[in-house]
Amino acid sequence: MKPKYDVIILGAGHNGLVAATYLGRAGLSVLLLEKNDYIGGATTSQKVFPDYDARLSRYSYLVSLLPEKIIRDLGLNLELRRRATASFTPYVKDGRHDGLLLSNVDEEKNRRSIADLTGSDTEHEQMKKFYRLSRVFAEHVWDSMLEPLVAKEEFRRQFDVDDVSREAWRSLAEEPLGRAIERYLKDDLVRGLVLTDAKIGVFTHPHDPSLLQNRCFLYHLIGNKTGEWKVPVGGMGAVARELEQAARKSGADFLTNVDLRALDLNGKTREVEFGVDGKRQTVDARFLLVNFGRNVLAKFSGKPYQPNATDEGSVFKINMLLHRLPKLKAKRYPATEAFCGTFHSDEGYEQMNASYDQASEGRLPVKTPCEMYCHTLTDDSILAPDLREQGFHTMTLFGLDVPWSLFARDNENMRREAEKRFLASINQWLEEPIEDCLAVASDGRRCIESKSPVDIEDALGMYHGNIFQNAPTFPFAERKDQVGTWGVETGYENVFLCGSSALRGGAVSGIPGHNAAMKILRPD
Ligand SMILES: Cc1cc2nc3c(=O)[nH]c(=O)nc-3n(C[C@H](O)[C@H](O)[C@H](O)COP(=O)(O)OP(=O)(O)OC[C@H]3O[C@@H](n4cnc5c(N)ncnc54)[C@H](O)[C@@H]3O)c2cc1C
Repeated sequence: MKPKYDVIILGAGHNGLVAATYLGRAGLSVLLLEKNDYIGGATTSQKVFPDYDARLSRYSYLVSLLPEKIIRDLGLNLELRRRATASFTPYVKDGRHDGLLLSNVDEEKNRRSIADLTGSDTEHEQMKKFYRLSRVFAEHVWDSMLEPLVAKEEFRRQFDVDDVSREAWRSLAEEPLGRAIERYLKDDLVRGLVLTDAKIGVFTHPHDPSLLQNRCFLYHLIGNKTGEWKVPVGGMGAVARELEQAARKSGADFLTNVDLRALDLNGKTREVEFGVDGKRQTVDARFLLVNFGRNVLAKFSGKPYQPNATDEGSVFKINMLLHRLPKLKAKRYPATEAFCGTFHSDEGYEQMNASYDQASEGRLPVKTPCEMYCHTLTDDSILAPDLREQGFHTMTLFGLDVPWSLFARDNENMRREAEKRFLASINQWLEEPIEDCLAVASDGRRCIESKSPVDIEDALGMYHGNIFQNAPTFPFAERKDQVGTWGVETGYENVFLCGSSALRGGAVSGIPGHNAAMKILRPD
């Protein structure tokens, strides 16, 4: 470690690594200080169950928003693999178990599956028209994500070119998303399927006047102009590893297990005081980049954090290792096809309105909406060869309508209760309880771990477990003073956000990391 750096990056999440690489390559000296004993933050694979050599993406798991430009610029060797199935939504019709299967590769299959559910081709046609809006939106905005912010009005003008663009702007940027969903789609299950992308990780509903649901939806639909979510081969750990290598090659220094104690945000240079290996250290830098959230920065600045109500996190993550895939009640589809995409459960539109209302009243929803993913069906390289041969799989469940406030008072008991309900939600579609398929550790415990928003905040510092650190923002400047900025400013001179808390941050994208680096390399 040197006594002085050009840039100190606080936190070593994937965005900190992106920023470090751009800056290091430009010849600046960079030090990253990370509180955890590993690099990557929420972008990490870990051997969650020590008896088994299976490296699970412990927090984030799919990639869509990492721009090809960043992959190219940094020379990352990543394989992002398409899932054959986009989604599977089991349902019961006329007393029979069936499922809505949407393929990523076979549009005709989608048409038939929607017609089986709804009785005609209309809903499929309407769904295509609806998704055309997000495609058009993505075409207009995606390339701007790596440029300074454009005024909302300027964007609106860019959309004022044809009917579809105008409709895309109105439906996605101006009116609550629920209106477009209800205008285009009639079937409750199809409406729910669409709405889930507006609710992942945040606590919102279709007609939320804050438009939080629109912002969350856009983040799920505009990535690389297609919005397709792909499995990183080797898991999220492979993404973090590639980025860490790029940062190290560019000359960055790293310290982990760092206990950050004080930041001088107002002095002539930026002084950072921390403890490592029981020793107190201070280091100076010209610039500070903040990879953790605004909430953590507030703690060090002495000013109270003033969150918006929309910043509340809403997530329940369950990581599982299975010794075999469970059988489905819907016999028409093999488990390998149904679990290969996003498996939706209790995510009907009206059902999610009910679960939102119940959670708003401080109760765990009676029926807990969730989705489950089996990434080893797309990439089994995260399993050791013997586990692969024996038919092991990893399974990830992401739960909705479980805000931080439900867990804040009694995290242990609520976590246990929530886990039970989410598993019950999945089990209603299975011939055998998923618990019977879980691998068992040498101490007799089943291979399952659950993370509530409280656990996520404890592990990573994300405000109230918000998976995007705080509420996702629109891709344009909503205020005049933001126009032309990189969206990374903090109010402190030479202190910039380089993580998900920045405007246009959120998700595994590297975008705020890139933008913070540009703020230093290409000042206004
Ligand atoms: C359960 C879950 C599932 C998700 N799923 C997806 C997904 O599938 N796809 C997707 O695109 N996104 C997903 N996300 C969101 C995505 O993971 C995050 O938005 C993104 O990884 C954040 O990256 P970052 O570099 O901005 O910050 P972080 O990953 O939050 O990194 C911040 C770093 O700062 C460190 N830190 C915190 N406090 C301190 C301190 N006091 N001192 C020093 N260091 C500190 C943290 O330990 C961490 O390493 C998910 C998130 C979660 C939690």
